[in-house]
Amino acid sequence: MFTLQPLPYAYDALAPVISEQTLHVHHDKHHATYVKTLNELLEKAGKTPDSLEQVIRDAAKTGEAKLFNNAAQAWNHSFFWAAMSPEKQTPTGELHAAIGQAFGDLAGLRKAFVEEGAGHFGSGWVWLAAQDGGALAVRSTHDADDTVPRPGLTPLIVCDVWEHAYYLDHQNDRKGFLEAWFDALPNWSFAAGQLCAAKGQGEPWRHPPAA
Ligand code: MN
Repeated sequence: MFTLQPLPYAYDALAPVISEQTLHVHHDKHHATYVKTLNELLEKAGKTPDSLEQVIRDAAKTGEAKLFNNAAQAWNHSFFWAAMSPEKQTPTGELHAAIGQAFGDLAGLRKAFVEEGAGHFGSGWVWLAAQDGGALAVRSTHDADDTVPRPGLTPLIVCDVWEHAYYLDHQNDRKGFLEAWFDALPNWSFAAGQLCAAKGQGEPWRHPPAA
């Protein structure tokens, strides 16, 4: 059984970009439902995996769509909570240098990230990810699709661009949500750890194993 982990901060900690009401609905209803459905599907199939990453990779390979969608959404949301911080941060050190190399500067990354998320058609996620070796790229994925099944790609930060992530606070203004999100909430020290992992120094973030 995989467990819905509590948020790593208070429900009102990300306001006003993400309100207390949105975090309750998003974490306690949406994320909780993905975890519940994931556990039901695993139980029905008689599977007792330890690692959510393995569930996602296997389901992507075998084409078990419902299992993939719920497992990947459980993973994506846990990663999303971990990749945000209530305290405004700025990228430093090797992360700052890698952003400069790929995007010119932080403003260049912001432009690419916001454009990718605002232009993404339908539901999904916008990621800053590092290839093995550390080269950075912005990419978006549809629905539950995530970066876990792709060897050689380590996510640094992600923003949820499903409507449930921003509609209560920003209505249809996804671009405004992304701009406000990028300026206030990325956990750049978390991202720096992920970049180290992409370069082979240390382990990337993993979803807590099944208990
Ligand atoms: Mn979501």
